[in-house]
Amino acid sequence: MHALFRTLPSVDKLLKHPRGITLVEQFGHTAFVEQARQLIAYARRTIQHTQQLPPIFAQEAILFDTLAERLNQSQQIEMQAVFNLTGTVLHTNLGRGLWSEQAINAATQAMRHNVALEYDLDEGKRSHRDHYISGLLQQLTCAEAACIVNNNAAAVLLMLATFAQGKEVIVSRGELVEIGGAFRIPDIMQQAGCKLIEVGTTNRTHLSDYRHAINENTAFLMKVHTSNYQIQGFTASVAEEPLVALGREFGLPVISDLGSGSLIDMQSLNLPTEPMVQQKIAAGVDLVSFSGDKLLGGPQAGIIVGKKTLIDQLQSHPLKRVLRCDKVILSALEATLRHYLSPEKLTDALPTFSLLTQSTEQLQHKAERLKSTLCKRLDSRYDLQIEPSLAQIGSGALPSERLASVAVTVACDNPQHLSALVRQFKSLPHPIICRIAQQKIWLDLRSVAQFDALIEMLESNHTLNTPS
Ligand SMILES: *Cc1c(COP(=O)(O)O)cnc(C)c1O
Repeated sequence: MHALFRTLPSVDKLLKHPRGITLVEQFGHTAFVEQARQLIAYARRTIQHTQQLPPIFAQEAILFDTLAERLNQSQQIEMQAVFNLTGTVLHTNLGRGLWSEQAINAATQAMRHNVALEYDLDEGKRSHRDHYISGLLQQLTCAEAACIVNNNAAAVLLMLATFAQGKEVIVSRGELVEIGGAFRIPDIMQQAGCKLIEVGTTNRTHLSDYRHAINENTAFLMKVHTSNYQIQGFTASVAEEPLVALGREFGLPVISDLGSGSLIDMQSLNLPTEPMVQQKIAAGVDLVSFSGDKLLGGPQAGIIVGKKTLIDQLQSHPLKRVLRCDKVILSALEATLRHYLSPEKLTDALPTFSLLTQSTEQLQHKAERLKSTLCKRLDSRYDLQIEPSLAQIGSGALPSERLASVAVTVACDNPQHLSALVRQFKSLPHPIICRIAQQKIWLDLRSVAQFDALIEMLESNHTLNTPS
């Protein structure tokens, strides 16, 4: 055993070897030494447990190949690009939507260059980082001003902390929403140091319920869009207009958390309706918040639009500094919003809308291509079919509304072969994420962008092999 230990090379010896020298040039001394140490430690453990040298130490060439591979591996990012065939277009676990080419260009430009982020080029003096977007949103929503933060959860927190710390906020019991990932309206209220006053019942809330709850400690009246559920049957809720009128009577602002929100009429695209930001502003709501990366189709951000006096207070709250966006996100958001100046072009420009508005004929055509490609790769154990499927927008937007879609399904008598195939899909160079239901794999065509790249990968040789 001791003799075996003595055959192990030292880190120093590996460093002086010609291949070691090349690897150090490529990856640097620190990374090389780290990987060499790990390999030698592994060899020691192997000798201790098996009284044998690990096979990779048998030949110098193999040892250096292993080192090179591990060093290459350490440079690979683990957060990999995947193909989304889940049928959920805005899948939060898969990073929600994809940016438009213009947004990508704007973002990379901001990464490579300094930008006039807080600098007014005309006046040559300091300006505000939300300034460009504020101007655009004014045009698009008729709101007086805007404030941009990291996400909509942050937007809600900032509004509560600014206007309601130590005070009361009135919300309907039917709107005490929990969004995935532990965002609950009551918890956010607590974090912001304000007291939640619940009014009405789960299914019915009336204007008089709000009225009776108002007292000298009330900060504002709040509406929360029930993005991810619907209350049906014997229901009543109070619309923005009467709530705004009530607020005016008592000098209280009305604030609305719209969740996804939309800047266009979704029905014009034959998609399920989603409340529009401009409607809420027109109804007199003082502040409206919504996400940048839900139906808007841009980067993760929280957008607040509304009355300038209130926006100014948000902008000067210390939390705004904590929650502000960087130049990359702000430039991508600006580019995304600019698409809304040409609404007829939105379905071409924004990937989210191109995916959502594909016709079933288009999806059928893609399904046929995918099926024939997979048929060439998979043996007769697998039964491939094209079936109608139900996709969804995702990210809490309209979960009860399903979108007609088309899927390639893969069935197999042996469930183990089916899970082996799912594992293969996930270990592809550009992994495929799919859905399993009714003992079948569902490859839904509605949610996949870069379809040609998917086919190309599946056609290239070194990828999918029928699992044994
Ligand atoms: C999605 C959503 C949020 C959270 O928005 P993020 O941008 O994901 O932080 C808050 N409120 C409502 C009503 C939502 O639908």
